[in-house]
Amino acid sequence: MIDLRSDTVTQPCQAMREAMANAHVGDDVFKEDPTIIALEKYGATLFGKEAALFCSSGTQTNQIAINVHVTPGGEVICHEESHIYKYEGGGIAKNSGASVRLLPGDRGRITANQIASWINPVHDVHFPITQLVSLEDTANRGGGAVYDINELSKISTLCKTIGLPLHLDGARVFNALAVNKMNPKDYGTFFDSMSICLSKGLGAPVGSLLLGSASFIEKARRVRKVFGGGMRQGGIIAAGGLFALKNNVTRLIEDHQHAKLLESALKKCSKVKEVMTVQTNIVVASLNEEDQRDPFIEALKSKGILCMPFGPGMIRAVTHLDISIEQISYCVHSIENM
Ligand SMILES: *Cc1c(COP(=O)(O)O)cnc(C)c1O
Repeated sequence: MIDLRSDTVTQPCQAMREAMANAHVGDDVFKEDPTIIALEKYGATLFGKEAALFCSSGTQTNQIAINVHVTPGGEVICHEESHIYKYEGGGIAKNSGASVRLLPGDRGRITANQIASWINPVHDVHFPITQLVSLEDTANRGGGAVYDINELSKISTLCKTIGLPLHLDGARVFNALAVNKMNPKDYGTFFDSMSICLSKGLGAPVGSLLLGSASFIEKARRVRKVFGGGMRQGGIIAAGGLFALKNNVTRLIEDHQHAKLLESALKKCSKVKEVMTVQTNIVVASLNEEDQRDPFIEALKSKGILCMPFGPGMIRAVTHLDISIEQISYCVHSIENM
């Protein structure tokens, strides 16, 4: 099967497995796991942050960050289709008791002007206190759309001026950096906290990093423990993450090229109405008729290709490091002839 359902389906390669098997470990709740410490240091340094925290998932890093930034009754500003709101089980409300201000926006992205107009007046007791802005780069529901650097800069300046924390859900931040060509250190200056996934396009089996200031990470470490996420000899999995950060970042452009090929094949397919312009490794297409979606997915499956339903009449295909150019050529041929 050619599995394009998500970039989470990757298998660790032999070299990654060896790095994991040979990892030096210790009890990380005692801060004694040398591999986790090395991974956290590597990630923090890469983005110019003081500290990092290794966590079990991107949902966990996002939810911990939100919990540190907000108090119950506060408000989080984010895009209406953002992962933190739509795909984290209602965690903003359940874990942190906060409300959300959901904003519409082009392909999963919001603007500084929008944010400015939705920051509630602090001295009017009617309104929840705006406590956090969260952005997603790349935006999953936006079909892997990348934020414009000028817009990010404006949002960051706005938040800094007001003293409003800015969080990044950077599950696919390396895909964004491959496109905007920005240095991670410069990019890191935009945000107070960042969540980066090691288990998406980077190909590690498990894990995400939360990045921020030393005092932020100290608070986050406590919240991680409370959420049941304190791990012991987690260096075994952290070694996979460290290997991924060191070896699997520069190759992401291949995934983007592969996604472009899928985009043009889908555009030639008679059953497809529209394809979102591919910017990174996510391809989203809508079919001519809503009820064609499931049969289309089934037809692809019968040819050995897996993709995901992505809302009414829509499908998503994601490229990743286990998909070769030969497999993409086969997909292109199959899709064009559907
Ligand atoms: C995958 C993803 C996450 C985190 O997901 P986990 O499965 O919890 O690691 C967060 N944000 C976005 C945009 C994602 O695509």
